Amino acid sequence: VGRRINLPELRCTVCGAAGEGGWRCRCGGPLDLPEAVVTGVDRLSGAGLRRYAPFVPLPAEMLERVSLGEGGTALVAAGDLPGVWLKLEFVSPTGSFKDRGAAVLVASALTRGAAALVADSSGNAGSAIAAYAARAGLACTVFVPSGTSPAKQGQIRAYGADLRVVGGDRSAAAEAAIAAVSPETGSTYASHVYDPMFLQGTKTFAYECWEQLGRAPDAVVVPVGNGTLALGAFRGFRELLAGGLVDRMPRLIAVQSERCAPLAAAWASGEAVPAKVPPAPATVAEGIAIRTPARGAQVLAAVRSTRGCVLSVPEAAIAPAQADLGRRGLLVEPTAAVAWAAALLLSRHPAMAAVAVDRSGWRDAGVSGTMVVPLCGSGLKTA
Ligand SMILES: *Cc1c(COP(=O)(O)O)cnc(C)c1O
Repeated sequence: VGRRINLPELRCTVCGAAGEGGWRCRCGGPLDLPEAVVTGVDRLSGAGLRRYAPFVPLPAEMLERVSLGEGGTALVAAGDLPGVWLKLEFVSPTGSFKDRGAAVLVASALTRGAAALVADSSGNAGSAIAAYAARAGLACTVFVPSGTSPAKQGQIRAYGADLRVVGGDRSAAAEAAIAAVSPETGSTYASHVYDPMFLQGTKTFAYECWEQLGRAPDAVVVPVGNGTLALGAFRGFRELLAGGLVDRMPRLIAVQSERCAPLAAAWASGEAVPAKVPPAPATVAEGIAIRTPARGAQVLAAVRSTRGCVLSVPEAAIAPAQADLGRRGLLVEPTAAVAWAAALLLSRHPAMAAVAVDRSGWRDAGVSGTMVVPLCGSGLKTA
C-alpha cells in the first residue's frame, strides 16, 4: 500500500490539458486515460474482470486483492428476438455493473495510498464503492440524495459505510461529498463519474462481449445517466478495434428515460454539449435520472463516432419491459428495464403494443444484426 504507480498521462476530455493531480481538470472537465494497447490476448487467463488485468493500468495483485469476483457475466440469447443478446450485469456481487468500475477505482485508490473514500451516488454506485472499500479495508462515506430508496440506503450501510442522506437532488449529494474530502486525512473523492479508473473497469464489459460472441456485436443498447457503462463499452471496443481483434465498432444506442433526458434532447437538436434539463416528475428509472451528466459531451461524441443515436423511452414503457423480463426469468430493477424497453420498441415487439411512442427521433436507430442489451441492476434491490 502507498506505492505510487505511473499512470499514463491523464488528459481533460473538455480542454485537452494534462491532468495536474486533482480529481478533475482546472477547467472543470473530467479527465481520461489514453486507450490501452491490446496485445497478447492468447495469454489471457482467469475469469471475470481480472482476466483483463493486463489492459488496466494497475498492478494485477492490487486488483486481485480487492476483487469480489465481479465481471464474467452471462450473455444469453433473448430467444424470440433473433440476434438479440442479454448480458446479465445484475448478477454481480452488489447487484449492478457498477462493481466493474468500483473494483478498479478502489484498487487504484488503495495503490495510491488513500486511507478513506468519499463517494456520492443515487444508489448502486454507492453500494459498489462501499462494498469494495470494505473489501480493501478502507473507510468509506457515501452521500446520497434523500430520494434514494430505503433498500439501497440499507445496502450501502450493510457494507459498513457511513451513509449521509442529503436534501435536494443528485448534484447536492455530489457537492456535499466534495466538501467532505480532506486530503490531509488521506480521504479521496471516489467519484464513479469523474475518476477515469472507473471506466477502466466498465470497459471490461466490451472485452467480455467480444470473447463471448467471438466478434463485436453490431449494436449495444445501453442505459445512460452519467454514461459510465456507455463510455466504458466504447473504450473497450475502441481498444479491441485498434488491436485488430474486432473489425468494426458496434453502434452505441444510448437510452434515457423521457422524464430526464438531457442527452437525448441534445442529440435531437444536434448539440455537442447537453443543457441542464428542468426538474421533471420522478421517473421509476431513478438510477439514470441525471440532469447534468459531467461526461455528457464525451458520451455524445462517442455515440456520434459509432453512428449510433440517443433515444428516450416513455415512462409507460418501463414497467411492461420489466414485466417482460420477469416472464423470461430475469428480475431487474426498473432502471435496468429502460434499455430493454428500447430494444422491444425498436423490434416492434408485442409486449410494447399498448405503449405510444413518438418515433420521430428514432430514425437513426434501425438496427440489424447482433445486438447486446445489458441488464444493469438486480430486481432484488427493489422487490
Ligand atoms: C448506474 C446505473 C445505470 C446508468 O449508468 P450511468 O453510468 O449513470 O450511465 C443504469 N442502470 C443501473 C441499474 C445503474 O445502476
